[in-house]
Amino acid sequence: MPDLRHDYPLRALNTFGIAAHAKAYLQVRSVAELRAVRDDPALMALPRLVLGGGSNLLLTRDVDGLVLHMTGTGIQIDGEDEHYRYVTAQAGENWHAFVQWTLANGCPGLENLSLIPGTVGASPIQNIGAYGSELADFVDAVTAFDFATGDIFTLDGTACRFAYRDSVFKHELKDKAVICSVRFRLPKQWQPNLRYAELAADIASQGIAQPTPQQVSDAVIAIRRRKLPDPAQIGNAGSFFKNPVVSAAKRDELLAQHPALVSYPQADGSYKLAAGWLIDQCGWKGKSLGAAGVHDRQALVLVNRGGATGADVLVLARTIVDDVRQRFGVTLEPEPVVA
Ligand SMILES: Cc1cc2nc3c(=O)[nH]c(=O)nc-3n(C[C@H](O)[C@H](O)[C@H](O)COP(=O)(O)OP(=O)(O)OC[C@H]3O[C@@H](n4cnc5c(N)ncnc54)[C@H](O)[C@@H]3O)c2cc1C
Repeated sequence: MPDLRHDYPLRALNTFGIAAHAKAYLQVRSVAELRAVRDDPALMALPRLVLGGGSNLLLTRDVDGLVLHMTGTGIQIDGEDEHYRYVTAQAGENWHAFVQWTLANGCPGLENLSLIPGTVGASPIQNIGAYGSELADFVDAVTAFDFATGDIFTLDGTACRFAYRDSVFKHELKDKAVICSVRFRLPKQWQPNLRYAELAADIASQGIAQPTPQQVSDAVIAIRRRKLPDPAQIGNAGSFFKNPVVSAAKRDELLAQHPALVSYPQADGSYKLAAGWLIDQCGWKGKSLGAAGVHDRQALVLVNRGGATGADVLVLARTIVDDVRQRFGVTLEPEPVVA
């Protein structure tokens, strides 16, 4: 395996900027390269970590195994039918660059998901979502490599079992499937999705009555730049906790005690609570524990203030989870993958 690297530094390959090394590291651009790994008994004996943009990952130790870094690129329009245009992108494509490509090529739909870091290949894993839109709405098929059999298989959107920050790739197919490409189904009858109040207000404040897809994308980009820290400036993995979902009874009980509670009704009668609000109420916004901290504008984002280890971030995260549980009786779960 000529490109195989040993003791490879991962600091520049995770947005938290955590210093860790991989025992072995390989860039993967094609299915043939995945097959070559499968045919190599020494490599197959190692535990594997698939890496995209490293933007949803907390490295808590060196990787005592093989990092497969998905860097294969390529985008193609696959045709259309009465209702949709179909576009396929390879796993290593940068997500935001892909969204901009679709807009520039007359295939709107993904604009609300602009500026989410990471790769196309990782986008189905947690069903990325933002500003009233989520990936599940646009996936036609996901093509993946099965290390157990060496086969390529394809799942349609239903088989991906998408849910809030969740999919089959976090369950039955965890550590089994390597996503090679994603085929998107983009609506020909495009309508702006302005369900998210802040986005609608931003567009309205610009005096735009009928926004174009690019104008929606630009507004999302501007809002995200105002609200979220740029990993190039300060290490982070975006929202560190998922918004917890509770029963209507639990939400009513909390609302009685905390009238300012931020919650959103769900289709099944449950409520999603704003994890950032819960953390903020516990006084964590802007605070630090060692070199790990809570962002001063967004309590949901944990940051590396410089030289933090993954263990530092975990200690902070666990302390926050304990505080929120004690105060509200609600258990927060981390969004990034802890490795
Ligand atoms: C500033 C910031 C803002 C963010 N905002 C959002 C947001 O608004 N909405 C949102 O949903 N997320 C958000 N995120 C999280 C992150 O951008 C997404 O989860 C993204 O999809 C991760 O992509 P990645 O390529 O970086 O994945 P990585 O971090 O490299 O990997 C994440 C997980 O997916 C697995 N994986 C990666 N690629 C593959 C593949 N090809 N096949 C199989 N498994 C794979 C990895 O093994 C790992 O378990 C944000 C992150 C940051 C840093």
